[in-house]
Amino acid sequence: MREQVSHDEYRICVNCVMDTSDSAITFDQKGVCDHCTGYYRDILPNWHTDARGRQALDQIVEKIQKAGQGREFDCILGVSGGIDSSYLTYVAKEILGLRPLVFHVDAGWNSQIAVNNIEKLVDGLGLDLYTEVIDWKEIKDLQLAFIKSGVSHIDTPQDHAFFATMYKFASDHKVKYILTGANYSTECVRNPKEWMYFQSDLAQLKDIHRQFGQRPLKTYPTTSILWHKVYLRYIRGITLVDPLNYIPYFKDEAMQFLEERFGWQKYPQKHFESRFTKFYESYWLPKKFGYDTRRVQYSSLILTDQMSREQALLQLEEPAYDPDAIAHEFEYIATKLGIPVEELEGYLNAPNKSYRDYRSQDQLYDIGARVLRALGIERGGKR
Ligand SMILES: [Zn+2]
Repeated sequence: MREQVSHDEYRICVNCVMDTSDSAITFDQKGVCDHCTGYYRDILPNWHTDARGRQALDQIVEKIQKAGQGREFDCILGVSGGIDSSYLTYVAKEILGLRPLVFHVDAGWNSQIAVNNIEKLVDGLGLDLYTEVIDWKEIKDLQLAFIKSGVSHIDTPQDHAFFATMYKFASDHKVKYILTGANYSTECVRNPKEWMYFQSDLAQLKDIHRQFGQRPLKTYPTTSILWHKVYLRYIRGITLVDPLNYIPYFKDEAMQFLEERFGWQKYPQKHFESRFTKFYESYWLPKKFGYDTRRVQYSSLILTDQMSREQALLQLEEPAYDPDAIAHEFEYIATKLGIPVEELEGYLNAPNKSYRDYRSQDQLYDIGARVLRALGIERGGKR
């Protein structure tokens, strides 16, 4: 029996650190949340990082190499400078012997560490890097539109551009395989949809831009669920592969390794390779909505035995942002977006909205997720 919690009762899972700040959370009689039970039921029994996983991965690699024969690249791979995509790049080139086209999307918010990390990695592995620079005026306008709309998923413009560019690269270069850094090890608990709605929803992006944007999106890259999940996948035969799910992947060890081997630098928190994402996840989201993405990240690490629950609870007592630096950071973000600090504060204090307040393809995503789960193609996922 699952209990839905009433809104005013605070509860936290006894197994991970997800709590009622996720309003859709449910608990079983022992007090274990649905993120945990979903992990033990759907992910863990099907996740093999031993010889079995490696064997399955080798078979995929063979197909990738075959499809890439006589071509300059056999797959594409996007790097952000963060740990997952960085480690993936190393694995693809050195462990799997693949020849990836490595690309990076510069949406204007790269931290210096991210830039250094990408350079060191690509140089160290002898790979070429393709950088796609998004028109700053357009993405800035779109980012402001999301902020003005009052929704919680204001990081969408960066993320959407990243995925759209990745699919466009695969399509333009006629590459059949896209490698992604998606992994259960650090992401088996997902951000609830209420916290971070689907960044690929073009209907939502367009509606928010139509209502709050001021500049037409002429070059900003877009994608839609029907184009990349149906057309590219089933008509063009482009396949997404997540190699990190087939091999042992532990965050701290991977960072240590990249540091020693390439002079790669660590970040204080996942996703902090982008200055906007850092501001958004450490300050805006917890402050405005009470959503702390560290709960999701730490819970993933707890479930995969990379962090203790006690350690997570201790770290959650401290704010995710640096209190001494936040005023400066706030000013940096406002200035870069071309608005006064007071205006940005106004948006922070304005009423909160949800993705449901704007046009969306939510139902299409729901149907798609149900079909993929029924076919056993996708496990876990947002809810
Ligand atoms: Zn839990």
